[in-house]
Amino acid sequence: STTIMWFRQDLRLRDNPALREACRGSNVIAVYIYDDINPGSHEMGAASKWWLHHSLASLNSSLDNKLHILKGDPAVIIDQLIKKFDANEVVWNRCYEPWQVKRDKQIKSLLKNNDIAVQSFNGSLLWEPWEIMNKAGSPYKVFTPYYRKGCLQAHEPRAVVDAPRHYSYLYDADCDSGLNSLALLPDIKWYSQFSNRWQPGEEGAAKNLSHFLSEPIQSYKEARDVPDKKGTSFLSPHLHFGEISAHQVWYATLNKFNGSIDNPDVDSYLSELGWREFSHYLLYHFPSLPEKNFNSKFNQFHWRNKSQDLTDWQNGMTGVPMVDAGMRELWQTGYMHNRVRMIVGSYLVKNLMTHWHQGEAWFWDCLLDADLAANSASWQWVAGSGADASPFFRIFNPVTQGEKFDPKGAYVREYCPELKDLPDKYIHKPWEAPEHILRDAGITLGKDYPHPLVDLKESRQAALDAYSAAKDAH
Ligand code: FAD
Repeated sequence: STTIMWFRQDLRLRDNPALREACRGSNVIAVYIYDDINPGSHEMGAASKWWLHHSLASLNSSLDNKLHILKGDPAVIIDQLIKKFDANEVVWNRCYEPWQVKRDKQIKSLLKNNDIAVQSFNGSLLWEPWEIMNKAGSPYKVFTPYYRKGCLQAHEPRAVVDAPRHYSYLYDADCDSGLNSLALLPDIKWYSQFSNRWQPGEEGAAKNLSHFLSEPIQSYKEARDVPDKKGTSFLSPHLHFGEISAHQVWYATLNKFNGSIDNPDVDSYLSELGWREFSHYLLYHFPSLPEKNFNSKFNQFHWRNKSQDLTDWQNGMTGVPMVDAGMRELWQTGYMHNRVRMIVGSYLVKNLMTHWHQGEAWFWDCLLDADLAANSASWQWVAGSGADASPFFRIFNPVTQGEKFDPKGAYVREYCPELKDLPDKYIHKPWEAPEHILRDAGITLGKDYPHPLVDLKESRQAALDAYSAAKDAH
């Protein structure tokens, strides 16, 4: 038999259930289709396209250059491939974004109507979103019971599957437009530093996991909050594109600790994978998550939405060092530390009273790990409008956050080098530094580094007032 293996967000050979099925005794046609028809406003951002370009190059090389790379409507392209190769089966691993779910359902029924066998597999989530329901039979809305009662007590994640050993890939150059035809590399070459830090593809993912388990995992619980320590696994873009599966990460971590989840660092790390599951779960059950406030109280909120505020935030020029360092890390590396994502998000939404959609959109374009589920759930969490969100009145103070998590200012000094000679005492609040200290550090505020855009205390109060007004109007 002849099977089409449709690669999507599973750009790997190991632990790939659909690929393993495809290779079971049949000829395999490996295909990746860049879908520019169905995603609508959720088409990939620029940083993700950079990643995808390199990830596809890596997968293609693992497949001895037999990956067919095409662009267009998958329903049409798959139909053409079936005819061309006389294929009788199509397989894929499931994706969970609402537009993908809708598209895949349509393709599945088209194929079935044409007597083509079709199978989909779980390649990405430890627990399928429809498996985990509360006692009342509805979806959970709070993380801890979802994860601890729902997931952990439901069943163990499925076992990892080996890479196929016996296979025969069919290839026809007429059906391959080639990687460059996708034109994924953005015109603006801001990404020149990305490859110093990242290696897209299965090998890069395996390296990051192996490094993380060799040491950082042992102090993960504490170190994960310190932005200048490289204390996390840096697997998010690899997980998003499926160069490694959550199952591989889950079991490799557990195996390292004799299968036990009791160690606090292991528990803390695995629960972050749990947050990844929860985001996908929310998006699956509440498909309007990227667009609509989960908590409708926020529909009445009076946003200020000043465009210059947004531009200064995007450029890392707000005059608040912790915020600016984060925004510059994002621009330079395609990544931002999780603690700092929360700080810059809270500052944008609360201090600058700018709609979370604006922050979400900028992250979508700039993050290498941009993921519709994690990004929209996290922005709603930060804004206070989401499921199980941080309450609106809990407004992160970027100065105290900086003093707590970056006490020596190492992170700020890395990304805001113009502040590097400021003493620790003022590194997170240069506007409080006496004139002679600023002079000694070679800084004139307003010239070398901006004055703060807003007063933190006053803007905090303004946000709280606007929130009370929205609540009363509800
Ligand atoms: P680790 O700490 O090593 O965690 C391991 C894995 O768990 C991550 O790779 C990721 O897949 C998952 N994970 C960790 N934290 C979260 C979380 N809070 N929510 C969901 N999954 C999580 N993550 C994305 O993958 N894509 C996004 O678009 C994204 N947008 C975010 C936007 C905001 C405003 C915030 C506050 C967080 C966002 N996150 C997003 C979550 C988190 O910041 C990143 O997953 C994490 O920083 C990735 O680094 P790491 O792989 O070293 O994480």
